Amino acid sequence: MSSQRIELLAPLTGLIVPIESVPDPVFAQKMVGDGVAIDPTSNVLAAPTGGKVKQLHSSHHAITLLTPEGLEVLLHIGLDTVMLKGEGFKALVREGEEVRTGQPLIEFDAELIMKRGKSILTEMVVTNGDKVSAYLPGNGFARVGLTPALTLELVGGAPSAAASVAEGQLSDAVKVPNPTGLHARPAAVLANAAKTYKSDIKLVRGGDDANAKSVVSIMGLEVKHNDEIKIKATGPDAQAAIKALTELIRSGCGEDCGPGVPAGKPKTVIKPVVKPHSDDPDVLVGVSASPGLAVGQIFQVKQDVIEVREQGDNAEVERRRLDDALKEAKQQLEALKSEIEDPGKAEIFSAHQELLADPDLLDIAISGVSEGKSAGFAWRKAFTTYADKLAKLQNEVLAGRANDIRDVGRRVLRLLAGVKEAELVVPDNAILIAEELTPSDTASLDRTKVLGFATTGGGATSHVAILARSLNIPAICGIEDAVLQLPNGVPVILDGTRGTLRKNPSEAEVQQIRDKQATLARKRAEEQATAHQPAITRDGTRVEVVANIGGLDEAKQGVTLGGEGVGLLRSEFLYLERTDAPTEEEQTQIYSDIAKALGTTRTLVIRTLDVGGDKPLPYLPMPAEENPFLGVRGIRLCLAAPEILRTQLRAILRAAPLSKLHIMFPMIASLEEVREAKAIVAEEKAALGVTADVKVGIMVEVPSTAVMSEIFAREVDFFSIGTNDLTQYTLAMDRGHPKLAKQADALHPGVLRLIAMTVKGAHAHGKWVGVCGGIASDPLAVPVLLGIGVDELSVSVPAIPSIKALVRKLNKSDCVKLANEVLQLGTAAEVRARLASLAD
Ligand code: PEP
Ligand code: MG
Repeated sequence: MSSQRIELLAPLTGLIVPIESVPDPVFAQKMVGDGVAIDPTSNVLAAPTGGKVKQLHSSHHAITLLTPEGLEVLLHIGLDTVMLKGEGFKALVREGEEVRTGQPLIEFDAELIMKRGKSILTEMVVTNGDKVSAYLPGNGFARVGLTPALTLELVGGAPSAAASVAEGQLSDAVKVPNPTGLHARPAAVLANAAKTYKSDIKLVRGGDDANAKSVVSIMGLEVKHNDEIKIKATGPDAQAAIKALTELIRSGCGEDCGPGVPAGKPKTVIKPVVKPHSDDPDVLVGVSASPGLAVGQIFQVKQDVIEVREQGDNAEVERRRLDDALKEAKQQLEALKSEIEDPGKAEIFSAHQELLADPDLLDIAISGVSEGKSAGFAWRKAFTTYADKLAKLQNEVLAGRANDIRDVGRRVLRLLAGVKEAELVVPDNAILIAEELTPSDTASLDRTKVLGFATTGGGATSHVAILARSLNIPAICGIEDAVLQLPNGVPVILDGTRGTLRKNPSEAEVQQIRDKQATLARKRAEEQATAHQPAITRDGTRVEVVANIGGLDEAKQGVTLGGEGVGLLRSEFLYLERTDAPTEEEQTQIYSDIAKALGTTRTLVIRTLDVGGDKPLPYLPMPAEENPFLGVRGIRLCLAAPEILRTQLRAILRAAPLSKLHIMFPMIASLEEVREAKAIVAEEKAALGVTADVKVGIMVEVPSTAVMSEIFAREVDFFSIGTNDLTQYTLAMDRGHPKLAKQADALHPGVLRLIAMTVKGAHAHGKWVGVCGGIASDPLAVPVLLGIGVDELSVSVPAIPSIKALVRKLNKSDCVKLANEVLQLGTAAEVRARLASLAD
């Protein structure tokens, strides 16, 4: 045997048969792996090579050995013999046992097997073929333990290196930083990254492990915040996989733990053991899933049962059916995604598409098919196994994903069963009641008829709840089960904010709600009607109200809602979740499209790439950092990798003639950074021959910059205050920390004083100041910001009309007094109390 060749000896005495001739497409088409078959005359299966028993099938008809070279060799006695459920098979070894070449593994009763109508043709295949460059099957009659039945040539592979691969390499323990652990999104990022490696990769926590290439398997491990996990990789690129994946885990798997987390809400949600209960017999309580009020009538929604046959036609046909249904489901999801305006919410269905390719789900389904089940039966087993497993987990976020697996599972099942999705015929003013609604149901609700919904399952973090919020439908999850007994047509008031459902409300109660709704609707309509008028205070101070955006759609929406420009284009969207950097052409195209959407009269502030640390880029490997928020992020990263910055700046400059374009650098902490970045802008501008007047400004997110704003103002054209980060760095509180969400308050007097300092320094040199952090969209904070002298508010797109309307109601002189007053207060709570007293 040469160093790159492995000989597998015949595991049985008998005739060697090419694998392609096995009368079972699962083997003949090498779906399980490549190898040979033996038509045996002996009845004791022996080890074809030394190794470890990796898996012994519970029916004892199949066994997998892990060889010292890291090969997994499956020995499968007979065809369809799994159906015998162990009858006629006797295992002679146990899982985990080391065996030597020729050692007896399984004894079988060939006569009994044949009497039961099964073939005893035995297969020997390698299931991790990425390590094998050539299969050289023997031929003729073979003797057990003596005749080579299959010779394998390995990829590269000196034996010394192979030895460590065989056992798999194990990383050091990594602490999971994600506040909610490895829930669906980070699990998907991790699985996708793992899939780029050939090695077999596992996540190991204590005695448990999961397939790192399978989202459902990772979620099933229920990895929590601060859990210590290791990566085990076996294969040719094990070392590289371990390095990249441990770094990815350490950095949060691309999860931005900062914005978007409702203040004051812990992000790790443990499933409530006992459901809330009301003492008022007319009120049923649950958890608020989506705010708002609705008055309507009960309409119960029941899930249809999808029937499928258990027995399949033949494995090849069933496998094709499964593949076709998976393909079709993927297309349906693509269509559904295009109907959802909010790209963030459309991602929910991208995750569903990924589930369709999940290796662990497919493994169960394909092995069901190979055991003779119909594609529908095997697929249902696969997705219900995983959904049930997840539903039992303690973590509400992970348990909530069971509903997603059932949703996508039923979508495929319907296609396999040839049944159409039953169309819901919903009456007017319906309040839907169900045990569970799926994300697909929710996304396709008829908004002209459905006013709200309540489900006994799910929680505030479920995808259904997220969709309900984006569709603006009041909703309750986890409501008392008694709701399922309410007959159709019963009048109810659904309070999505409080999480209550009131049955049989009095006329007066209904009227009160209708009045409230009418007032709110009038206010919204007025705000919309005046959205395109400027935001000028009663005493004549104009404030620019512009949009924070993350792409072209939001740019267009912002203009429609009266946005006077874009105060912050978070350009990260172009860089994240891809394997290579966006090209200059790609970027020029998208910046130009956004600039055109705004036109030449509106301002467009493009913030240069703000990643690193907590938001890693796969194509810019960075060493892991102890404190990513204090590490190489924002402008520091760009100056350390100037080619990325130069490419982006060239693309921005090329779009310059199309609007009032501004360049803004993030995370500026020192003057040197500003000077270096400005010099690069000047060089690229000259090289391109761009003559347009492109303003260059900085974000104020670091206290040093706020304190020294007067000095900075001499060298930049404008400031925009990122209060999300400024608060984090001023108070030394992680902006995404679940326990500090309440204290990390941008209305802390310390932060307000830094905003005031920034404005003073900027105005001393005639430079303007915007605020683009979260408080600019908070109606409570707006009077103070105006009083401090902020010139521009860059707000979330939906908030544009209401913030403009609010500015028009204020008097700048009153705001100045108010700001002077609150700047003297000692705590954020005092500031909030004072501002709330004015809002009442
Ligand atoms: C901020 O820090 O306030 C800000 C607007 O930037 P980001 O939220 O993108 O970090
Ligand atoms: Mg920031």
